[in-house]
Amino acid sequence: MKHFTRRSFSSLATKGILGSALLGNLPMANAFTLSDKNKKLGIALVGLGSYSTYQLAPSLQETEHCYLAGIVTGTKEKESIWQEKYNIPKQSIYNYDNFDAIVKNDTIDIVYVALPNSMHANFCIRAAKAGKHVICEKPMAVSVAECDAIINACNENNVKLSVGYRMQSDPYTKEVKKFVKEKTFGDVLFVSSDAGYISKGNPDQWRLNKKLSGGGALMNMGVYAIQTSIYGTGQNPISVSAQEFSTRPDYFKDTDETITAQFKFENGAVAHMMTSHNANGNRLKVHCSDGWFELDPAHSYGPISGITSNGNILEFPHKRQQALQMDDFSKHILTGSKNIAPGEMGKRDMIIVEAIYKSISEGGKEQKLSLGNLGIVS
Ligand code: NAD
Repeated sequence: MKHFTRRSFSSLATKGILGSALLGNLPMANAFTLSDKNKKLGIALVGLGSYSTYQLAPSLQETEHCYLAGIVTGTKEKESIWQEKYNIPKQSIYNYDNFDAIVKNDTIDIVYVALPNSMHANFCIRAAKAGKHVICEKPMAVSVAECDAIINACNENNVKLSVGYRMQSDPYTKEVKKFVKEKTFGDVLFVSSDAGYISKGNPDQWRLNKKLSGGGALMNMGVYAIQTSIYGTGQNPISVSAQEFSTRPDYFKDTDETITAQFKFENGAVAHMMTSHNANGNRLKVHCSDGWFELDPAHSYGPISGITSNGNILEFPHKRQQALQMDDFSKHILTGSKNIAPGEMGKRDMIIVEAIYKSISEGGKEQKLSLGNLGIVS
C-alpha cells in the first residue's frame, strides 16, 4: 500500500481529492511511514500568553518527538520577538485572522491552543479543519456542547485530539494510578483534594470574566481536583453535590470564588474536593483500607512530592511535565501509543463541572452522573 506523507495527504485533502470514504479509513496516525516514527512533529502555539511563554515554549526545547515550529498571535509585537528567540520561519507566523492558511503549512503537524477558555472551541475546530492534530488547553471549553463540537471536528477531519492535562504525563500521577489499581494500600475509601490559589491581580483579568473563562475557580483550578478525585479512586463518580462560598464579592463579581464538592463512587468510595481563587490548595490524599498515600504539592509544575503511610517518600526524576505531555501526544500520533489525555477526558470533566454548577444552583442537591468509563485511561 502506498504510504501518504503528511505533505501529500494535506495537499490531496486540501484539493478535495481524498473522498470522505478514504478519509474515514485513513486516520492521520497511519499517515506516517515507519521511518517517519523517528521524525519530530512541528507544533504551532496559539496564544502567546504566560503559559506559552514560560511553560510551553521552554518545554519544547526539551522534547524528543516534537518541536516549536510556528506561532499564532494576536499581538503584532510578539511576532519578531518569538521569531528571533526561537528561530521560527516567517511563513510559520500567523495571526487570528489568517490562521486558517495553516492548512497549507506542511511543517506544522500539531496546533496547541493556549487561549482564554471561551476561545478554545473556535481555534481547535479551525485547526482540525486545517488537518492539524490538536492539543486544547484545560478546561477543554466552556460547555459540554463545545467539547462535543471539538471532538466531532477532530473525528470528521481524522486528526488526533488531546487536552493539556500535563499531570497525566507526570510520574507521580502514574504511581497514584498504580497504587489504586494494584490496591497497594487496600481499597480506596476516601479521597480528599484541594486546588486553589489566592487571586490578587487585576479584577478585570479574563479568568474573572465569565464570558471569557466560562467560570471561576472551578473552571481554572477545579478541573485538577476533579482529575485527582478520579485518578485517586480509579473510577468516574456516580453523583456529585456541591457548595459555593463567597467572601470577596467586590473582587469576584462575575465568577465563583470557592467551591467544595463531594463525589460518590459505585464501589462506595467517597471524595471531597475544594477549589478556590481565594485559598491556597495543592494536595491529594487517598485513604485506603490498609493505609494512605499523599501528594503535596499535587498539581503544580513540579517537582511533585509524595509520601505513603509506610513512611516511604515517593521520588521520581523531575522533567518538565509539559515536555512529557507533548512527547506523549506526539508518540500517540507517530506510533499509535495510548492517548493518555483524550478529548473524552476533557468532556467528562466538563460534564462534572456543569453538574457541580447545577448542584450549587439547586442548593447543593445531589446530581446523578452517568459517565460509565468516559475519559478513563488506565
Ligand atoms: P494569559 O492571560 O497569560 O494569556 C492569554 C493569551 O490569550 C494572551 O496571549 C492574550 O493576548 C490572548 N488573548 C486573545 N484574546 C484575548 C482576550 N479576549 N482576552 C484575554 N487574552 C486574550 O493566559 P494563560 O495563563 O496563558 O492561559 C491560557 C490557557 O492556558 C487557558 O485556557 C488556561 O486555562 C490554560 N493554562 C493551563 C495551564 C496548565 O497547567 N495546563 C496553566 C496555565 C494556563
